[in-house]
Amino acid sequence: MPPGLDHLVQLQAADLRLIGLRERLSHFPTRIAEANARVEAARVQVTAAREAHVAALKDRKRYELDVEQWKEKAKKYRSQSFEVKTNEAYRALQHETQNAEAEMAKAEDRLLERMVSGEEYEHQIKAAERALAGTEAAVAAERREIEAEQAAAQKELEAAEAERAEAAAGVPEDLLDQYQRIAARRKGIGVTEVFKQSCAQCGVMIRPHVIQALGRDDNQEIFHCETCTRILYLPKSFGGAVSAAATGGPSTEI
Ligand SMILES: [Zn+2]
Repeated sequence: MPPGLDHLVQLQAADLRLIGLRERLSHFPTRIAEANARVEAARVQVTAAREAHVAALKDRKRYELDVEQWKEKAKKYRSQSFEVKTNEAYRALQHETQNAEAEMAKAEDRLLERMVSGEEYEHQIKAAERALAGTEAAVAAERREIEAEQAAAQKELEAAEAERAEAAAGVPEDLLDQYQRIAARRKGIGVTEVFKQSCAQCGVMIRPHVIQALGRDDNQEIFHCETCTRILYLPKSFGGAVSAAATGGPSTEI
């Protein structure tokens, strides 16, 4: 086989692993960001519940004042009604008193409503705080897991890079150059085996004389798939002989 082709096949395997590992590594920041966003969302819930509670307390103060004011008014009208001289004026003040009492009752209802929902807000704050604590704990555990996975993938990446460098050292420069140009255009795959007399990548049939040549020990020529241009090799030639099945013709034992 041509010098370095076996190393090129090893290099290809390392490159494919590297592609997969880089792809995996590229997802870790997103996964961590998503986990952090869950904590942030839970924190927003706590803030919202606290703010709603503060607003409810303010409303309550306002309604308490309302109740007081209508109560004072009713009291005032009632005392005035004892001092008036005409029936007409008396009835008018009676009417004002009733009106003030009705307003007071409405204000009391609103106040009561607020007092009830104030308790609800307290429950909501506690529930949101519990949810936040739970999310924080879950996310911390998840982050540790993600970081451990990331570190492992990083280690694998370094190992694959070392393997690649070692394999690349055994490949002549022009062959490496050819491979890299093809791989860049062809989804990272620049060299491929002949499988069932076809290019294992694009499936096109390989001419028998090419398969025969690939199988010869003394072959120094680099062959490409005519369709996808990938560099071809015969797996069996790495072991020695080419079978009749691979060539499609009589056995060409070398
Ligand atoms: Zn092909």
